[in-house]
Amino acid sequence: HIQSWNPGAERIYGWRADEVIGKPIREILKPVYPDTTVEEISKIFEAQQTWIGELIQHHKDGRPLHIVANVTYLRDDTGKPIGMVTVNRDVSDQKRLEKEILEKEKLTVALETERRVQEIRTRFMRMISHEFRTPLTIINSSYDLLKSYNERMSPEQRMQKLDNIAEQVTHLRDLMGEVSLLLSTDPTMPNFAPTEFDLVPYCEDQITEIRRACDTHTLNLLLNCDSARINGDSKLLRHVVNNLIYNAIKYSPEGSPITVTLEADRTAVLRVKDLGIGIPDVDCARIFEPFYRATNVNDTPGSGLGLAIVKQIVDLHQGKIDVQSQVGVGTTFTVTLPLTAAA
Ligand code: ADP
Repeated sequence: HIQSWNPGAERIYGWRADEVIGKPIREILKPVYPDTTVEEISKIFEAQQTWIGELIQHHKDGRPLHIVANVTYLRDDTGKPIGMVTVNRDVSDQKRLEKEILEKEKLTVALETERRVQEIRTRFMRMISHEFRTPLTIINSSYDLLKSYNERMSPEQRMQKLDNIAEQVTHLRDLMGEVSLLLSTDPTMPNFAPTEFDLVPYCEDQITEIRRACDTHTLNLLLNCDSARINGDSKLLRHVVNNLIYNAIKYSPEGSPITVTLEADRTAVLRVKDLGIGIPDVDCARIFEPFYRATNVNDTPGSGLGLAIVKQIVDLHQGKIDVQSQVGVGTTFTVTLPLTAAA
């Protein structure tokens, strides 16, 4: 029951002292504890003889007030508790301000996300029209020619048109494969199946395979560890190794060396280094976004999807990917993956 009510309390709560003296404090201030319970507060109070915390109380007009309360015992001369004193501070304005700032920040983040989504959508549409329209046009015109002039064409000419169609269909199929891989490695729908395996024989096998398929570049493998055991999805990680090496091949001159390094210290570190065209600084931060291509690719074919897939796969493995590059000098991609606990 309220025994004393100072002018500060009158100002904060709107009640005059003569209206509240003798009344139960709960009835007047109608407290609500958003972060705790009365039982929890009582426990702390008994243990520490004091409680400092935040709660909601109400103004006479019903308005909720954010209050920071500091409650202690009121004692007589012998130290015996005869009541409680609570020193309350109204922090509603501060709370309102904090809420406003938080909401503003949330809005900024939402707008930025929206802007990025729009940008990806625009790039997607542009990619669709470039990458899909050209092969479809070639397929269409080859088909029209075959249909209209079939009789007058030589067998070689006919075969060339059929080859054109087959080549463009393969291109479209690869593109669709990339799009569906990008969607399937999205963290919101992971079909991620990690098992423990060693990256050393894994990289050796893949590099042997790539060397067999492509002899335009010198592909070196430097193993700085005997083993690098990780918990990973070997099928997905194949795309990472393949994509980085095939990009290195695609964006560097024929005959130039590509060096793949594998290290295992506290983490497994895979580096792919080339001496190719490099990536301008302005583009480096964005090449992992879907459909983003650097400004210096000229007419090198590509969809801008490979690195987005690589990044998603590395993220699924709780790893990291970085790029260091200098235009005209070369590029190094570094993938870091956690080693298994036993490694
Ligand atoms: P793309 O199909 O265009 O090669 P990626 O997603 O694999 O798509 O790569 C995105 C962009 O990053 C490329 O378009 C290119 O601008 C740049 N890039 C990637 N790898 C290299 C590299 N090794 N050297 C130079 N540029 C690269």
